[in-house]
Amino acid sequence: MRAVIAYGKGDVRVEEHELPHPGPGQVAVRIAFGGICGSDLHYVHRGGVGDYSIREPLTLGHEVSGTVAALGEGVDGPPVGTPVTVHPATPCGECAQCRAGRPNTCPATRYLGSAAHLPHVQGGFADVVVVRAAQLVELPAGLALDRAALAEPLAVALHAVSRAGDLRGRRVLVTGAGPIGVLVAAAARHAGATEVVVSDLVGEALEVARRCGATSTVHAGDLDGTEPLDVDVAIEASGAPPALGTCARHVVRGGVVVQVGLLPPGDVPAPGNLLVTKEVDLRGAFRFTDEIRTAVDLLAGDLPVDAVLTHRVPVDEAVPAFDLAGDRRVASKVLLDFTGGAVG
Ligand SMILES: [Zn+2]
Ligand SMILES: [Zn+2]
Repeated sequence: MRAVIAYGKGDVRVEEHELPHPGPGQVAVRIAFGGICGSDLHYVHRGGVGDYSIREPLTLGHEVSGTVAALGEGVDGPPVGTPVTVHPATPCGECAQCRAGRPNTCPATRYLGSAAHLPHVQGGFADVVVVRAAQLVELPAGLALDRAALAEPLAVALHAVSRAGDLRGRRVLVTGAGPIGVLVAAAARHAGATEVVVSDLVGEALEVARRCGATSTVHAGDLDGTEPLDVDVAIEASGAPPALGTCARHVVRGGVVVQVGLLPPGDVPAPGNLLVTKEVDLRGAFRFTDEIRTAVDLLAGDLPVDAVLTHRVPVDEAVPAFDLAGDRRVASKVLLDFTGGAVG
């Protein structure tokens, strides 16, 4: 079978691998689509994400959809052929965070396609992937497998929105119109926000945001000198350090800022006095817990997010697909398409 493997900075290859077989409690999934995430791009273009660098070959990918291919010992379903997505996280289940119902902040979590631990957790960009049976999320009827590949990033967006509190009737600013920012905008509208303003430096990305539920968009540079928007909630989804200042400046006094974009490694400047004098609640949002189940239900409905899916690239052409996914003027979410080609 084929697997997309990063060896280090600038070195990603599509290689033939042994077909894996599910052990006890495990399930093999025949992958249909895998979405290229910003973290996959960082592994390929920088050789690492945050503080974690690639120390051994790493199969990338954690945003996948497919069908059940085989059940391991002791697993009695779902039946072979069932369409699924995969919850990428395996939290430890025992630490204080896990016991407190916050497995997304478990420090020992193993995440699909991540170099955080050694050995690395191999990811989902392969024809067949073996996971724990409990990681499977069955897809509702009528949800296409390409759209289902958005379940993981939409779950991230839903978690960020839930961290913001009740959005009904609220005005929201989202900084960053990459896939996460756009999905946050769609999720915020779905959660009842009456106004969702999305900012970015790239006009093409803002066009995707408008097609996915943003009520208005603004060039990020134009937010600097203007009067504060006084939004109730600002959700920072760009990961660009200056955007946190933008959020603090445009949120209303007593408002909430949620940081979901991962910032560069190390410390970044913080808009300290704005946070103090406006009594802003600054909240982090990291991955998600059960929101992936809500995500597949929303994707099976009419959540307007198809404009995020700009490209489907056959997996055999995965190497240039990482450059495509990094070009924000052209691409939003790039899916690797595993549906063509034979599997041994
Ligand atoms: Zn992702
Ligand atoms: Zn834990």
